[in-house]
Parts: sequence; structure tokens; C-alpha cells
Amino acid sequence: MLRLGLTGGIGAGKSTVSKILSGSGGVLIDADAIAREVVEPGTTGLEQLVAAFGKDILSPDGSLDRPALAAKAFGSDDARATLNSIVHPLVGARTVELLDGAPADAVVVQDIPLLVEGNSGALFHLVAVVFADAEERVERLVGQRKMPEHDARARIAAQASDDARRAAADIWIDNSGAPGDIDDVVRALWSERLVPFERNIRNGVVVRTAPTLVPADPTWPAQAERLIARLALVCGSAAARIDHIGSTAVPGLAAKDVIDIQITVGSLDVADSLAESLREKGFPRIEHITSDDPKPAYGIGGEADPAVWGKRIHGGADPGRPVNVHIRVDGWPGQQFALVFRDWLRADAEAAADYLVVKESAAAAAVGVTEYRDAIEAYINVKTPWFDGAYHRAWEWAEKTGWSA
Ligand code: ADP
Repeated sequence: MLRLGLTGGIGAGKSTVSKILSGSGGVLIDADAIAREVVEPGTTGLEQLVAAFGKDILSPDGSLDRPALAAKAFGSDDARATLNSIVHPLVGARTVELLDGAPADAVVVQDIPLLVEGNSGALFHLVAVVFADAEERVERLVGQRKMPEHDARARIAAQASDDARRAAADIWIDNSGAPGDIDDVVRALWSERLVPFERNIRNGVVVRTAPTLVPADPTWPAQAERLIARLALVCGSAAARIDHIGSTAVPGLAAKDVIDIQITVGSLDVADSLAESLREKGFPRIEHITSDDPKPAYGIGGEADPAVWGKRIHGGADPGRPVNVHIRVDGWPGQQFALVFRDWLRADAEAAADYLVVKESAAAAAVGVTEYRDAIEAYINVKTPWFDGAYHRAWEWAEKTGWSA
């Protein structure tokens, strides 16, 4: 199962996008619809609201009088908290019920207007934000939904900013154009990213990219943040720390467009116990390094000795975001080196420039090698000898600067 969180400011076009996705085969779970369902006449939800706020929140026909409830519940923080403490758990429970009922191979689209406000992006494999400029949204709400203009503006002002939404977005759907303009974009998202992502999760398939360098992408750190939040949710207290490592964590450094993350755990057994949940979250295991299989997947000098350098490696199932997730044991040389190496490159521009030269010749060695494994091997064969020296230089730097992880 794949879970997409779909959000955006009111009037941006979420419903329009969710219709296209459900028309393509997505299983739609609409948070607003659930919030209404759990307080329909005859529900315990409505009973609890009446017990908390009084009978005068009911219309003559026994249904919830929303403006009457709003007048009471939005008057004070306490009243609002009471309302949320009744409605949120009911919405949560109903959502879980619907998720449990969805087929194992479903792509679930959860339409959640307040996803960013609730900081819940990590619950999903991906977050898509539908965007239209605030003025455009006011125009649509007033013109098409017949909402009074001051209401439209008040609602927009009470919601998350565009910047906050951008930080949460794995996918940005710009719906500023004419109706219908985004239809093809959304259908391509469905068939080229969501469907293969779900299939890759189910089959434990990792997305690979050729070892080609690209210029530094200033959004890499923010992308890593989102991945780390998802990984943290899976690992819970099993992870001592989770870090963005490797070249994409060094500002300005060209790199393969693959984000490296390190999860630090207490033992390789702990790493093994996380494997299945990591796959379900979109990070299947690549290779199991044991004493029977000492060949490193990504060489850093000496890694072949599993008693010291052992780790578990997972990749990403998302066709739109290649990733390596290294799970290493707290205090072991490989775990420490990943951190000191990153910090050394961040601090020492000459070292970073040096490394770039090596990476460029490594990438050149892989050009024209069509088999993925051979290309990676050609790349690593050039890089590895340099790491023997870099290992010492990084630790000398650490000693000199009093670095600690
Ligand atoms: P949301 O669900 O995000 O609140 P909707 O999908 O209901 O937003 O869209 C708000 C209004 O704008 C609707 O009446 C919809 O038909 C209309 N709309 C959606 N996309 C566009 C567009 N690209 N141009 C003009 N109007 C649009």
C-alpha cells in the first residue's frame, strides 16, 4: 500500500486533483467527509459534542448546527481543545478503519486540508501540495463557490503559509493555470510515480540511478529532512540518531542525485528487526552484509571486514527520489566516519574540492558502462583508494578541531 497525503490552501484545487487520482484508481479518503460523518445524527460523536457544549448546538431536525457549534467552540482555546479532543480521535479511528479495509496493493489518496498545519507529512509516503496564488484562490472561492470575500480571506489567513507548504511538499502541483491544465500532470504523477512506487514497495524493489554527477541542488537538505522524519517514525526509539550524510549533505558539492541517510542503532540485530517496516515505508533492503557476504555495496576503505564495518543498506522505492539508507551501529568506525567525513567536507573547502575531482574521474570511469552493478563498481574502484587517505585526513581534522559526533 502507498499513502499519498494531498493538501493545499482552500480553493487551490485539491478536490479537482483528488477526483483525477480517484478516477485513475486511487482509493480516496477525504478527511473533511470523515469529520462530518463522525458527528452525524445517531453517532456517539454527536452525543459527546452535545454533552460538552449543550443541546443548543443542534438544529431542530437533530443534526449538528455547525455555526452554533463554531460560535461556542472557537470562543476560547479550552473550548477548541475540547472540540478537538472529541473529533480528532473519532476521525483517526475511522481513517484507520478505511485504511485497513483498502486492498494491499492500493494507492490511497488522503485529502487532508490541514495536513501541513497538523505537521503530519511523515505519516505518508509522499505529500503532494496543490498550489494557486492566494488572490487567485479568493477569486475562485467567491466566483465559483459563492463564498463571501471576507470569509475566503479569513480562512486563507488562518491556514499555513505557502512557504510552510513548500517545505512539506514532495510534489508541488501548480494549479495557477486554466481549468484542465493540470490534468495531464496529475495523470503522469499517477502512472509514472505513484503506481510504480506502490509496486516497488510490495516487491521490495529499490530505484537505482546511474553514477552521474549533477550540480548541487539547494533543496537536498529539505528533502533529507522529510525522509528523516519518515524514517524516525518507523524507527522510534530504535534509532539513536538519524543523519543526512554524504555529498548531498555538503552545501555546494556536486553529487550523484541520491540522498544518503544514516540511521544509528544499538546493534545489527536492531537493524534487522527494522527491515520489514522500512520496506513498508518505502525503503526496501538492498543487501545484507554478513560474514558470508563481505563484499561492500558502497566502498569506503576497509568496509569489507563486517565485524567492524558491517552495516545494513536500504534504498528507496520512490521512482522520483533515489536514496541510500545506511544503518550502522553506534560508535563503530563506519558510523563515526560517515559523520566526521561529512563535517570535514563542510568545514574544509579544499577537501571538498579534492573530493569533487575524484568523484568526477569516478563518474567518467562509469560512462558507457550499461550494467548498473558494473557501473557502480567502476565508480567505486576509482573512489576507494582516495578514501584510504581521506580517512586519515578527516580524523586529523577531527583531532585538531575537537570534533565530536
Ligand atoms: P479545494 O478542494 O482545494 O478547496 P477545489 O478543487 O474545490 O479546491 O477548487 C476550488 C474552486 O476552483 C472550484 O470551484 C474548482 O472548480 C475551481 N478550480 C479548480 N481548478 C481551477 C483552475 N485551474 N482554474 C479556475 N478554477 C479552478
